[in-house]
Amino acid sequence: MSEIVGHLIGGQVVTDHTRSLEVLNPATGRCLRQVALADQAMVERAITAAAEAFPAWRNTPPISRARIMFRFKELLQANADKICQLLGEEHGKITHDAKGELQRGIENVEFACSAPHLLKGEHSKNVGPAIDSWSEHQPLGVVAGITPFNFPVMVPLWMYPAALVCGNCFVLKPSERDPSAALLVAQLLSEAGLPDGVMNVVNGDAEAVDTLLSDARVEAISFVGSTPVAQHIYTSATAHGKRCQALGGAKNHAIIMPDADLDNAVSQLVGAAFGSSGERCMALSVAVAVGDATADALIEKMQQQMTSLKVGPATDDENDFGPLISAQHLAKVVGHIDSAEQQGAKVVVDGRGLRVQGHEDGYFLGGTLIDRVTPAMDCYQAEIFGPVLLVVRVNSMRDAMDLIDAHEYGNGTCIFTRDGEAARFFSDHIKVGMVGINVPLPVPVAYHSFGGWKRSLFGDLSAYGPDAVRFYTRRKTITQRWPEGGIREAANFSMPTLD
Ligand code: NAD
Repeated sequence: MSEIVGHLIGGQVVTDHTRSLEVLNPATGRCLRQVALADQAMVERAITAAAEAFPAWRNTPPISRARIMFRFKELLQANADKICQLLGEEHGKITHDAKGELQRGIENVEFACSAPHLLKGEHSKNVGPAIDSWSEHQPLGVVAGITPFNFPVMVPLWMYPAALVCGNCFVLKPSERDPSAALLVAQLLSEAGLPDGVMNVVNGDAEAVDTLLSDARVEAISFVGSTPVAQHIYTSATAHGKRCQALGGAKNHAIIMPDADLDNAVSQLVGAAFGSSGERCMALSVAVAVGDATADALIEKMQQQMTSLKVGPATDDENDFGPLISAQHLAKVVGHIDSAEQQGAKVVVDGRGLRVQGHEDGYFLGGTLIDRVTPAMDCYQAEIFGPVLLVVRVNSMRDAMDLIDAHEYGNGTCIFTRDGEAARFFSDHIKVGMVGINVPLPVPVAYHSFGGWKRSLFGDLSAYGPDAVRFYTRRKTITQRWPEGGIREAANFSMPTLD
């Protein structure tokens, strides 16, 4: 009987299930364990646990909630090796990269420690005679998070530390493809002193998600994943009267200007395009070279640098990146390279058919560079989500910006240049949510918020940082009067004003 990854409900790990799924090691293709897939009744159990924990948790002083986050942070650091090992086993992420993911997650826990300050609200004395008024941020109640495979630890930590310190109870539905790290991390919260039921995890697929979307007790949904699913989640959650933020896919362009420091730009591009096998929503996937001379020099330097890329299993920290998540995803990414070739692009560095010794059944693809891509090609339109960098040649920065603005996605972008005026114009006008200037992966730090534009984000509020406090609370404004001697007043039928 193989190990089973269960759910965390009311502080207990529950492994009962009617359906389960194999969790594979993408570096070997072998089954590591099974994950239980929650049915409607199991998800309802988790929502009930959260709803029952809510009255006491919402009345727990914010500083006490924050102290649990302080302890949680220490436990995350103490358990870093185990967490990174699980990320390596199930996602294929190399340890140096897994450590970075965990650290970015921890920074969101650090932000949550400042909740008492963030929840203070606003107060006005004497808005009228003996009348005071204040606004406060009240928790929503039970809120849920649905997360993707590519950041099994960091993306859940974008959500629930903020939600919990704001006084909500949480149900997390991690990706069924690499569920173990998210479950382990959530269990550490109990060890940090979080009362049972405040944090719950249900593993599962669309059946579990549908229950979270339709159950009236769930007040809000945070989603991160692909755009078609994000759009479905947003449409369904809002139709059910829930608050929703749904972050979707991306196609992140980097403009390479003729005046850029090309050696530096190439190093940055190689890291940002191929790190984590390109399975990052902020991965750079299109290099837009301004002018043929820039493009030719870029291709030459990229080719040189790509010869030293090391691809292999997570267990070897010397590797730059590991396998793709599944055989199906590998086939999809290879299909995009094939189609680029068929539609007239030039595959300059070809990662197809890579064999990693001792891991012949793993889902590996080498770094791939494709030149002379045009906007009409399928490989340009789609989010490839693999270690593939496309090069599009344009004549001017305006042409590059028009290209980026016309794309369906607007998550991240960056420009490599030495020209401050050009950079300022670019960041002012480009229709993308997160912009880098000589910074390839402009992932905002935890005390700013993360969100794309266009079809990379459905909803009005971004993830984590100050927007998370707005998303996970509801404003209430109270006006009160306590005049000396009590209130003796005739009915007043005019709109109350101060003359
Ligand atoms: P995905 O959309 O397949 O899955 C995300 C979550 O939705 C998972 O928990 C999954 O179980 C659930 N899900 C999948 N299909 C569903 C359905 N039909 N109904 C209900 N729930 C469903 O995404 P993925 O492959 O796990 O992750 C990769 C995608 O996530 C990429 O598109 C990437 O760009 C995106 N992503 C975006 C961000 C961002 O911040 N914008 C961050 C990370 C990943």
